[in-house]
Amino acid sequence: MSEAMVADRASEAAHGATQHVDVAVVGAGFAGLYLVHRLRKAGFSVVAMDEADDVGGTWYWNRYPGARCDIQTIDYSYTFDPELERAWTWSEKYATQPEILRYLGFVADRYDLRRDIRFGTKVTSATWDDATERWLLATSNGADVSCRHYIMATGCLSAPKPPEIEGVKDFKGGIYFTSRWPHQGVDLRGKRVAVIGTGSSGIQSIPLFAEQASHLTVFQRTPNFALPAHNGPPPSDRAALLAQDRAAFREQGRWSMTGVPLPPATEFSFQLSDAERRERFEKLWATGDLVGMLTQLWADQGNDVEANALLAELFREKIRSIVKDPETAEALSPTDHPFGSKRPCLDTNYYATFNRPNVTLVNLRKEPITAITASGITTDKRSVDVDVIVFATGFDAMTGAVKAIHPITGRGGKSLSDVWADGPHTYLGLTVSGFPNLFLITGPGSPSVLSNMSVSIEQHVDFVVDRLTALREAGFTTMEATATAQAGWARHMADCAPLTLHRLANTWYTGANVPGKPQGVMPYNGGVGPYRSICNEIVSQGMLGFRLTGPSVGAQCNDGEIVRLQPDVRLVLGMLAQMNLPPIESMGAQGARDFVTEFNKSRPAGRPVGEVKDGTLPVADGQLPYRLYRPATPGPHAIVVYFHGGGWVLGDELSDDPFCRDLCRRTGMILVSVGYRHAPEHRFPTAAEDGFAATRWIADHAIELGGKPGPVMVAGWSAGANIAAVTCQLARDRGGPEIAGQLLVCPVTDCRFDRPSYADNASGYFLTRSLMFWFWDIYCSPADRTDPRASPLRGQLAGLPPAYVVTCEFDPLRDEGIAYAEAMQAAGVPVEQLKARGHFHSSFVMVDVVITSADGRGQMANALRRFAGLPQSPGQDNQQSDRTNFNAAAS
Ligand code: NAP
Repeated sequence: MSEAMVADRASEAAHGATQHVDVAVVGAGFAGLYLVHRLRKAGFSVVAMDEADDVGGTWYWNRYPGARCDIQTIDYSYTFDPELERAWTWSEKYATQPEILRYLGFVADRYDLRRDIRFGTKVTSATWDDATERWLLATSNGADVSCRHYIMATGCLSAPKPPEIEGVKDFKGGIYFTSRWPHQGVDLRGKRVAVIGTGSSGIQSIPLFAEQASHLTVFQRTPNFALPAHNGPPPSDRAALLAQDRAAFREQGRWSMTGVPLPPATEFSFQLSDAERRERFEKLWATGDLVGMLTQLWADQGNDVEANALLAELFREKIRSIVKDPETAEALSPTDHPFGSKRPCLDTNYYATFNRPNVTLVNLRKEPITAITASGITTDKRSVDVDVIVFATGFDAMTGAVKAIHPITGRGGKSLSDVWADGPHTYLGLTVSGFPNLFLITGPGSPSVLSNMSVSIEQHVDFVVDRLTALREAGFTTMEATATAQAGWARHMADCAPLTLHRLANTWYTGANVPGKPQGVMPYNGGVGPYRSICNEIVSQGMLGFRLTGPSVGAQCNDGEIVRLQPDVRLVLGMLAQMNLPPIESMGAQGARDFVTEFNKSRPAGRPVGEVKDGTLPVADGQLPYRLYRPATPGPHAIVVYFHGGGWVLGDELSDDPFCRDLCRRTGMILVSVGYRHAPEHRFPTAAEDGFAATRWIADHAIELGGKPGPVMVAGWSAGANIAAVTCQLARDRGGPEIAGQLLVCPVTDCRFDRPSYADNASGYFLTRSLMFWFWDIYCSPADRTDPRASPLRGQLAGLPPAYVVTCEFDPLRDEGIAYAEAMQAAGVPVEQLKARGHFHSSFVMVDVVITSADGRGQMANALRRFAGLPQSPGQDNQQSDRTNFNAAAS
């Protein structure tokens, strides 16, 4: 932009005439600065506004003693310009607030950004004008603004939460908020100081307050997990990695789950001994790496309550070893939330501070604050007189940062506050249906605060500026998320919930810290890399989910949902696609078997059960191997006879090992996985007859096997479910054994290939139509296929045992599974169905890989328990029950 234009703009602003720009930005922090830089470079006229007197955003306001970042500064930096990276060197591993502020000032100077920023200016309202297709902004200082696009770069933690305690106004001493700390500092020497709040801000500042105050009283409602930062110079190993290949280091961060290039742990908690787990923990404790502690101990620490409880206990041990007074140590030990579900803190001497004679901890769980008085703070057990109260009570996070700033009125006079009355609704956390040309940088529904913010900010800014550029080139003037896309994103966000334990804590992530705020996990927990790939896919699919309009080009709307798969299924399928495997059917039977054996070696080991025992059982013309899984609980147990998947050609009694272990643990029953014989060596009806014979033998030998005598259950997956279904028909017709119930997971039930699921899911979901053709060809001649022992859907269905039938949306076998369930039901068989949305054929057997299928396996386990006449197992049926499991694991 020319100097003359800048001068014009400044004078417009000064004289109160409306300032016309292409893009207006609120905020001059990390996001706002990069926006101004990129928009300008892309040729847009831009103005940014910030209430503060200078750049910095959150780092301008949060100046309390001890304020630092909690992502290593080597990662918490801009990466868009290698020259900038070379020009700035951080002095510490976790930089202080003054150094970060200096950095942002340096960036503003380097790119001459301040000339397009109006400081000391608040936007007081924003209104969309349909006629002009522009946003009209009223400001607190100087000219109003008219802009085509309006971008909120307001940060996630910028609206401080009010104290919510009676009597604050009566207090005669000094009141300070960590989030609005006076620029000139506060002299606490010799003062009696109270701090309310023990989140990151409290935990960082408390040790420094304690050094100055004559006495410090810390009022703690919820103890938090804190890890020593061990601050110092940036670690040389990571600095060396960056120096070695800066571009690769940054790219790895962009595609990682957290925005920090650290490889996640691959071993599971149950694969490590106590000593090994402790060693890993001690190493990270000594390193002081928060992201490492959150992701690198064991693979299930972030999604499994029991695995997480092991880690939480190691933290509590540390607290007990540092804090001398046992009662104080106990009060400081978090037990009400899993580690990582609430933002853990990085500290310097936090726990040791409570050994000081001038520090007292007041546990508000035991003695709540009743009031703030003229002289101090009263709980229901004591009154504490103080000279200063510091509120480290946090923020109305994510939505407050957008809503609290000013009224935003979109299309048809709709207010954003009304639209978000029951919680934030967004597409990608970036746009809101009904609010054209409005963008939220790192808004609710994007990885934002669950990631390295600098990486997420750059990704959002790049996405927005690239889209605005493309829009301009194509002649479009508006861009708006559709209602369908937004609803789909909400569903995808809900699908992501089981991937982490954030839903189990009352935190600012969920809105639970603000009384009356609608609750739900607000940031996207599906990972930074996956999120980036989704954004890229939206573009490659012609701006899926957006309506674009322009005066000379009309309207374009490619409506739809961007992610219909479960999030982890999407990742698994993406990885399989990247492997570029030849079709399994091209490998030949033995080649395919070798492939499966090799492939299974890389999956997570199954979880421990009481006992695993191999044996053989007789059938008419030979012996079949079996593997028995016994629960750790005292027997005798009910027995489930299990048949593995593999299209009657592949697999063996070990090939569904993790699934068998999981069902054994969840049901508390014995699973006997049968090694039935395969085609082409043994074609139809060997597998079916083996299944029946094995079930009869197992039922007859239940007591020998340590099981309960009486009816058994049968279960199977895919072709194994076909055998289970056939076994039930044969058992009914051949005088036993008695079968109490059948669990059929993605069963093959018919030899017809013209149902819609065969066309819908013909390829791309691992089990393909052509692979199924191949299986059928190897197993069974066309003449035999209508035999009910091959196609149980064609058999008599009345009088079969109760069934639980699981089908997956993205599976060629979906419709025949549903057809079998419906046909059995029509024949009077009690049937329950689980139609698994977003899942593929292998979802349920990929234990500890497809995390989102765990809930379904819990439901299967409860169905088996119902068949066996056992009470429902608590904590199996839905995610709510994770809370129950968490409480059990924590106690
Ligand atoms: P916070 O994590 O929300 O902590 C607020 C604290 O105040 C909590 O202990 C809360 O207790 C307590 N509290 C709130 N209202 C209260 C009341 N009425 N009575 C008693 N106690 C009350 O806020 P924060 O410490 O400012 O941190 C917010 C986020 O900012 C962090 O999670 C982090 O992401 C970011 N941050 C980062 C750093 C850093 O290291 N880079 C530093 C500061 C902040 P409950 O838990 O019971 O609600």
